[in-house]
Amino acid sequence: MKITIVGTGYVGLVTGTCFSEVGINVVCVDIDQKKIDNLKKGISPIYEPGLDEMIARNTEKGRLHFSTDLPSCVNDSDVIFIAVGTPPDEDGSADLKYVLDVARTIGQHMNQHITVVTKSTVPVGTAAKVRAAVQEELDRRELGIFFDVASNPEFLKEGDAINDFMKPDRIVVGVESEKAQEIMARLYKPFTLNGHPVIFMDVPSAEMTKYAANAMLATKISFMNDIANLCEIMGADVNMVRKGIGSDTRIGNKFIYPGIGYGGSCFPKDVKALIKTADTVGYSMRILKAVEAVNDDQKSLLFNKFMSFFTGDVRGKTVAIWGLSFKPQTDDMREAPSLVIIDHLLKQGCRVKAYDPVAMHESKRRIGEVIEYCKDPYEATIDSDALFLLTEWTEFRYPNWVVIRKLMKNPVIFDGRNIYDAVELKSLDFSYFCVGVNTEK
Ligand code: NAD
Repeated sequence: MKITIVGTGYVGLVTGTCFSEVGINVVCVDIDQKKIDNLKKGISPIYEPGLDEMIARNTEKGRLHFSTDLPSCVNDSDVIFIAVGTPPDEDGSADLKYVLDVARTIGQHMNQHITVVTKSTVPVGTAAKVRAAVQEELDRRELGIFFDVASNPEFLKEGDAINDFMKPDRIVVGVESEKAQEIMARLYKPFTLNGHPVIFMDVPSAEMTKYAANAMLATKISFMNDIANLCEIMGADVNMVRKGIGSDTRIGNKFIYPGIGYGGSCFPKDVKALIKTADTVGYSMRILKAVEAVNDDQKSLLFNKFMSFFTGDVRGKTVAIWGLSFKPQTDDMREAPSLVIIDHLLKQGCRVKAYDPVAMHESKRRIGEVIEYCKDPYEATIDSDALFLLTEWTEFRYPNWVVIRKLMKNPVIFDGRNIYDAVELKSLDFSYFCVGVNTEK
């Protein structure tokens, strides 16, 4: 089987590489010439553990190719996956411009049956728009070709994307014909041999499944953050409450960690898009609107604690930041809480010194040199008035506090991920603040 993946971002590149790993002939296409030139040289545009080696292996075996020329790939493909970005439009809805551009190009060149699959996260009804866009081009060329459209949303997590793709909890595929179901079942067979199921359904349900999944996960996070904030006011410890509720199998212990709000390229955008979709059909997603509001506030939580610790007198203070990416194991900073916090600090006239194991190049690209970048976590703390822990990279788990105590001008820590031990830090004369526990009582 030959497939083309259009869009070589986090999703497209991982999808294409993993399909080639099981022996399928894959071409990954992107409009970004530099990205493709680099990939041909073995340079990956993203940080994703294990991906570079997998790309190198499959490129060498001749199963994985990179191109900017979609038209020349169209008729050489049994299946074309559309995995381009669907960024939020000005009103929060998903911008389908890139998806439909690709669909039109496919229609302009298709001469045989192809299954066109949307892998990007797209609102209910998008596959129908993709079908219409392809059909319009075929009609223009006066060609009566039968083709399929399917929806195959992606559930991988950045940072663990290869594992998620190779051993998925489930694969969701929305189809409109038996032929498309057969093709998709064949394509995914290597991934389902160990009991990982493909769940076939109709196309709108598949499209909705992706949004419902992300909305549910975002809801868990905001719910827990709301509980955490109340715990702090009421004198309860959210870490204990989390263990207490997580042990109930109906609730489960995953995704109920309090923190400084969800970020990344998916949850914020998908929650917004689902709210917007519902609004356009006259239905209000009341829970999701609250989820979003709680999350927006949560991103400022540590900054507010910092302000009240210094009773607002923060101008000229030096702040060390550990972690810039929106979560560990990725260089992705889209909608990262760090961006909100840095913005607050700079507006208040603070000096910011940051360290992140992989996201500093991305930070330089996004916000430039408005903050200082340090070569390790210790350098960031030199002469600092406060330390913010924003991303729970493993290398931040057990720092040498004795050394840090000497390096910092003022020993106060704002832990946005609840990874440090309040008792230990207090014994070393640090002031310590986290989420959902009143550590100063
Ligand atoms: P990304 O921004 O990393 O990559 C998108 C790529 O598409 C870019 O390289 C861009 O140059 C390319 N592109 C845009 N228009 C193109 C065109 N006309 N032809 C060829 N290439 C084109 O995006 P991503 O994070 O990989 O996300 C892609 C989709 O998958 C989005 O809908 C997203 O919501 C969804 N998704 C993302 C994740 C994630 O963790 N990142 C997980 C599941 C689903």
